Amino acid sequence: MYGLMQQRELLISGLIEFAQKNHADTEIISRRVEGDIHRSNWAEVGKRSQQIAHALKRMDLAVGSRVATLAWNGYRHLELYFGVSGTARVLHTINPRLHPDQLAWIVNHAEDEVLCFDMTFLPLVQALHAKTPTVKHWIALCDTHQLPKDSGIPGLQSYEGWIGQEDSAFDWPQFDENTASSLCYTSGTTGHPKGTLYSHRSTLLHAFGAALPDVMNLSATDSVLPVVPMFHVNAWGLPYSCAMVGAKLVFPGPAMDGKSVYELIEQEHVTFAAGVPTVWQMLLSHMKPLGVRFSSLKRTVIGGSACPPSMIHAFKQDHGVEVLHAWGMTELSPLGTLCSLKNKHMSLPLDQQMKIRLKQGRSFFGVDLKILNDQGQLQVHDGQSYGDLYAKGSWVINKYFKQAQSPLIDGWFPTGDVATMDEDGYMQVVDRTKDVIKSGGEWISSIDIENIAVSHPSVAMAACIAIADPKWDERPIVVVVVKPGLVLSKEELLAFYVGKTAKWQIPDDVIFVDAIPIGATGKILKNKLREDLLKREAP
Ligand code: AMP
Repeated sequence: MYGLMQQRELLISGLIEFAQKNHADTEIISRRVEGDIHRSNWAEVGKRSQQIAHALKRMDLAVGSRVATLAWNGYRHLELYFGVSGTARVLHTINPRLHPDQLAWIVNHAEDEVLCFDMTFLPLVQALHAKTPTVKHWIALCDTHQLPKDSGIPGLQSYEGWIGQEDSAFDWPQFDENTASSLCYTSGTTGHPKGTLYSHRSTLLHAFGAALPDVMNLSATDSVLPVVPMFHVNAWGLPYSCAMVGAKLVFPGPAMDGKSVYELIEQEHVTFAAGVPTVWQMLLSHMKPLGVRFSSLKRTVIGGSACPPSMIHAFKQDHGVEVLHAWGMTELSPLGTLCSLKNKHMSLPLDQQMKIRLKQGRSFFGVDLKILNDQGQLQVHDGQSYGDLYAKGSWVINKYFKQAQSPLIDGWFPTGDVATMDEDGYMQVVDRTKDVIKSGGEWISSIDIENIAVSHPSVAMAACIAIADPKWDERPIVVVVVKPGLVLSKEELLAFYVGKTAKWQIPDDVIFVDAIPIGATGKILKNKLREDLLKREAP
């Protein structure tokens, strides 16, 4: 027997329809690439996303086509979130920090047909456009008078020119909620980046979950600053959750330095902010010498990398701001856990509460976690015993885009993280099995760094490992064995990296050794290598 309730598909257009109707004058603030502050609201975003819908129709772009963005957090990017997905096309948000060759690979793999970019990325697009034959339309996110005269990009048009003449009323189509809505590539481990293709259903369920009180606790009283980029897993879903609850949104544009972020928080009375530890480190370092405090900020979600205890203390003790430590992945839309306390913890002394807050947190309805030991058995939940972390749920990946084989094992997604779980379900990440380094919230593939090193004629063997860094959380260094009879300097090898990988991915240091430890299966024993290096440094 079926229930007798209305069937309304969970669609992203429903979010913007709701926000436009019920929170019309709630502000959307953006710092633009030009540096000025732009003021819009949910009614405007709603209207302009409908203009995008008309403009896409005029282009004759088929349903399911990919529309890519190379853009900072801002109102035009937000309008594309709704205008593109709302018409059953797929919004492909690209990470502009990648090397141009990687970007070209991603655009070609996604078969993007339209590419919208902030003017900051014009040089990148100039380097890209001849290598990306699928892109038929190039759109600069600017006014028509700001278009460069001789960009060298055929048919380049301005965003405002593209949508300006369109009608601001569009009948959003109704379709199956499992339709693809957005695409995000993750470029962590070996081989090419892999695409996670979200659906309208997974996006809306994630938005519901993220807004829950024990998760981000978002409401119409909030002024929300996503410092986490909109090209990083949809800014952790905040554009969708904020539309769902009618929160004010404040976008930092390209200015993520401590001074700019602090000014924006104060000017726009931000109550809730989200970002990776590196950004908050820059913010706190800016504020401390000035002796300034937050007047409105209440909560901040910190994730993407482990949040240092000192940061949680500084926010709480110096500023009375509650830090919510979160863990997630591109493949999880991204939220997997968030660290909020339970009723029984409220009577604990502050230092014991703090011990809990340092963990990555507990899962919430919609996502399930398990930890398996080396024998593939469920690990005990004692907060000590660790194992491989697996996830499953309504917003967890089933298959990567254009890959026939599913990464799931017995229906669970292997995260590549190693974790413990305590009796109350609080998860703590203790290590990674995937061979990657996360610097300032961005991935560096150890294997790519090693491959470049061994392509140098003097290098016999190379291993890339992470070292802890107070600003960037982790930085890569490369350990090298030089071929017998040859000579290589650190400067020569570091210069060899230039142009072969993004500048920020180049290792900070080169350490020359006689041998690198290898395991029985021929793999480099990185833990042993780290131990050896520590011993070498100890005397
Ligand atoms: P991404 O897909 O780029 O969002 O990266 C996901 C990965 O980042 C996870 O699998 C973890 O290795 C790491 N990560 C995310 N959040 C945290 C956290 N709070 N603590 C430690 N590692 C984290």
